[in-house]
Amino acid sequence: MPGAAADLWAEMRACRKCLEAGYEITPGAVFSGPAPTPLMLVGQAPGVTEAQVKRPFNASSGTRLFQWLAEAGLDEDQFRRSFYMTAVTKCYPGKHPGGKGDRRPTRAEQKLCRPFLDREIQLVRPKVMLAVGGLAIETLLERKLRLTDAVGQVFEHEGRYVLPLPHPSGASLWPNQPENQVRLQRALRILRDDLVPLL
Ligand code: SF4
Repeated sequence: MPGAAADLWAEMRACRKCLEAGYEITPGAVFSGPAPTPLMLVGQAPGVTEAQVKRPFNASSGTRLFQWLAEAGLDEDQFRRSFYMTAVTKCYPGKHPGGKGDRRPTRAEQKLCRPFLDREIQLVRPKVMLAVGGLAIETLLERKLRLTDAVGQVFEHEGRYVLPLPHPSGASLWPNQPENQVRLQRALRILRDDLVPLL
């Protein structure tokens, strides 16, 4: 299996499919962690600093994410060493044309990158998946769900537990609403009490 993982990671790093299809991404897939491992975190796509240093959730959204995970008893350094981190699309998609945050990868880019995500899941074989943000939630659960209906619940899907979390980017105001704070706290309690003991 280590050979299969190394082959996949080399293919992901070398991939230019979205660029060749005309999307102005910054090529160079961003992901980290061992395979197999019982927990896999999936975000939307890396940001600009993540693309520079090739480390998922490296900047301010990572600070916020790991503050949340600390409330569930998960330490950042240990998390990064022990668990797999990736995204629905692996390359930096560039700024949103409106200037607010990064561009959401198009359906076509998601489709181009989907085989990599499927192969990562096969290699990592997670028991628990953290879906961070609307696009990751929709991708992992294969249906559209409002964030307000998803965060605070755990889903069983294809033999794994999927726990939705909001995106920790400063561009998202969703987690700041008091009623959404309650949903987020419920999700973190589920992670701490029900899911971490499975790892
Ligand atoms: S986002 Fe995925 S499919 Fe697109 S170039 Fe990067 S690795 Fe390849």
